[in-house]
This record gives sequence, structure tokens and C-alpha cells, in this order.
Amino acid sequence: MQPLLIYNTLSHQKELFKPLTPDHVGMYVCGPTVYGDGHLGHARPAITFDVVFRYLRHIGYKVRYVRNITDVGHLEHDADEGEDKIAKKARLEQLEPMEVAQYYTNRYHAAMDALNVLRPSIEPHASGHILEQIELVQKIIDAGYAYVSNGSVYFDVRKYQEDTKKYGCLSGRVIDEMLSTTRELDGQEEKHFSGDFALWKKAAPEHIMRWNSPWSVGFPGWHTECTAMGTKYLGETFDIHGGGMDLMFPHHESEIAQQTAVCGHGPCKYWMHNNMITINGQKMGKSLGNFITLDEFFTGKHELLDQAYTPMTIRFFILQAHYRSTVDFSNEALIAAEKGYARLMQAYKTLGRLQPSKTSSVDVKEYRQKCYDAMNDDFNTPIVISHLFDMAKVINTVNDKKATLTQADIDELKGVMDTFVFEIMGLRDEASSDNTALIDGLMKMILDIRATAKANKDWATSDKIRDELGTLGVTVKDGKDGATYEL
Ligand SMILES: [Zn+2]
Repeated sequence: MQPLLIYNTLSHQKELFKPLTPDHVGMYVCGPTVYGDGHLGHARPAITFDVVFRYLRHIGYKVRYVRNITDVGHLEHDADEGEDKIAKKARLEQLEPMEVAQYYTNRYHAAMDALNVLRPSIEPHASGHILEQIELVQKIIDAGYAYVSNGSVYFDVRKYQEDTKKYGCLSGRVIDEMLSTTRELDGQEEKHFSGDFALWKKAAPEHIMRWNSPWSVGFPGWHTECTAMGTKYLGETFDIHGGGMDLMFPHHESEIAQQTAVCGHGPCKYWMHNNMITINGQKMGKSLGNFITLDEFFTGKHELLDQAYTPMTIRFFILQAHYRSTVDFSNEALIAAEKGYARLMQAYKTLGRLQPSKTSSVDVKEYRQKCYDAMNDDFNTPIVISHLFDMAKVINTVNDKKATLTQADIDELKGVMDTFVFEIMGLRDEASSDNTALIDGLMKMILDIRATAKANKDWATSDKIRDELGTLGVTVKDGKDGATYEL
């Protein structure tokens, strides 16, 4: 078999994958900031690294996959320094900041479950690792690469650059360029150099999320959490660090700087970055009106969407492109993905009904190897999908009696599809799990029983039914024409 090659953003080339500890893989992926609903920008890294996670496990590695939850409100770019995003939203909605974070964490999980994204091995919250972040900041100060200024702590990018020449090693940015592109911003006078980034920020009075530290009551800078939690759960050096390309600078560049300041080397052996998603050729953004949440895709409730798209259509669409290519979402492209996905599921069903022959008129032995070769070539899922479509063609030809397969070859095709379609690419057959009619029938029966209880003034039973359905996520609504339900 071909060895596994991974494109390393740091070296700009495909490298042979060799884990630091034999048979084990440590992988860290930057997770969501939980102050808003999950959108396509969340789906792509989640699905990309889900497939990496699934494949590494499939080929025999024991994988510890860490994906964090950013819930302390980070400084996405310096323009936001005065305003902690989670706290801002909390004030507007009159909720506890942690209530907002929990609400969106739950919604993120629900969307990821729908997309059949496996939960990581550890999902640490930044808010649960403030101490580790404070320790990290202290170590960077002790190493001489950070300074305290008015209660805040900044990373000394110029000193780091003088000593290591490494700032920009991942993103290719150079400090001169940063100097010319960094705008004048609030709090700038605290920094010795405009490119310095915050490790700890003193909280302004309006900040709700704040913690004690040796320097001030405040909150950690955005980049410290991934360094602190990656080190805590995976060690000073681990195998794979992943995330979206948009995180390369300043986030990942700063993670490398922080880790190098403390240990003399970056956090990982392989940096992997998924490319971005555009919508109808445009960058996605709230101000552009093309910001479509995952829920809106699933329900079709957005003016740019012609119809609803199921989670598997979205997943299939994302996997049809290599993770390092850009993906453009349009209704046409999604409808094509919906058809492609349905064709694959139909072929799998047809395969289960094929009549075996004594001999095979087509050779199907090579498909398994071809799929492995594609996965081993930097997780090339579009090539895997093209092989699966070739298999679907064979299946349909045999079904039309224009070719023959032995039982052994039918079993071989089924094995390849089970492995690559379901286990590795994580697709599932939505049609077969569609129990809508059954659920509707059962609900009608339950609501009938409840109506009878109400008619008999048996309020205890009717309330019990309503409350227990509620805990299952079914809302009962009483109306003039009887009760209805909503999942
Ligand atoms: Zn991160």
C-alpha cells in the first residue's frame, strides 16, 4: 500500500506521515467560537478533520483528537479589543455570558451530529483553562518574549524575530509588511510594536468575562488557549495541528511563536489547513447578506436558498472538493451534490439486491486499492468519490443484466462501499433513517391518549405526556383544533 502523505503547510509540500509515537496520533484542531450559530465556515474544518480522524483510526492508529471551544471571547482582530464578543452579545440579550456560550455550544453539537461529524476525544473549553493560560503567559514573560504594559501582557514580536527569524514561517508574512498593513487602533500605545499581540488583556469596566491574574483582572488573548490546551492534552509537540486557512495568520503563526518562546520549537509536526468556502463566488460575511447558517441550509429558510438541503448533501458537497481547494456554494452545485449523493445511496441499495453469477465479466478487484491510494494522497476524497461512482456504474450495469459478478465480487464491492462511503467519508443513508411517517403515526397516537386524559380531567397524565415529550425535544402545542407537535 502507498504510505500516507500529508500536505504540510509549513513546508509547502506533501510529506510522509510518521507519527511521533508509533501507532498513536495526537491531533489538535481549532474549534468554534460559541457566540453565534454554526455556518458553512464551521462545517468545512469539522468535516475535513472528521475524515482525517476517521481515516487515521481506520488504518490502525489510536488517535487523540482535541478540538477546543472558544468561550472566553477572543480578540478576533485588534479592532475588537475593547469589546469581548461573547459579553457584547450577552449584554444585548440580557443573558449570562456562559448561558450564551452553552446555548451556542449545544446548537453547534446538534449541527455537527446532523452532519455525522464524530465528537473529538477531548473538547476543552478555554474558560476551563484560564490557569494554564496564565502559566503559559508567565513562562513567555520569564523567557523574555513578553512585556507587561498597563496591566496587559503583549508578545514581543520584534525580539522574537531577532532571535529566531521565525515569525511568518507559516503564513509567509513578514514584519515589514505587517507594519504597513496594521492600522492604528485603540490601546495601540500600550504596545511597543504594532505587530505585538495580546497574551493577556486588562478588562475594561464593561467586560463581564474576567479573571484574576498576576497582571490585572482581565482575560487571555485569543492565541493562548490553543497553545495551553494543546500542550496540556497532547504534549509540547504533537503530530497534526489543523484549522481553516483563515486562521494561519495571526492565530497559528502566534501559536508557533508562543510555543517556540517557551520550548524552542513549534507545537506540531504537520500543519494542515482547509481552504475557504465562498457563496456564489463571494466571500461569506454577515455584512454581505450571504451569511447562511447550517440550520438555514437544513430548513431552506434563507433568501439565497432555492430549497432545503439535507446534512448529507452538505457533507457530500464538501467532500467532493479536496480540502485544500476552494469550494463555492450555489444552488446549482448543491442540487448536483444532492443527486450525486442519491445516486451513490441508490447504487448501494441496488448492490444488496444483485443476483450473483458463476463468473464475473468485470474486474472489481482494483477499487479498494484505488480508494486507499486516493486517501493516502493527502486525503483526496474527490478521487475516492470518482472511484465510487465507477463502482456505481458497474453495479447498475450488472443490475441491467449487461454484466455479471460473482457473490465474492458483490461482497467485495459492498465491503469497499461500507468502508469508504460510510466509515471513512462518514456519509449515512438519510432515506433509510427517515422514520417521518412512523414518528407521525406514533405522535398522533400519543396525542390522542393525551386528549382522552384531558377530557377525563386527568391532568397528571396529560401534563406527564407533555413534559416527557418535552425532554425528548418534542414540543406539544395546544390549539383550538386540538394539539399539534413540533420536533
Ligand atoms: Zn486555535
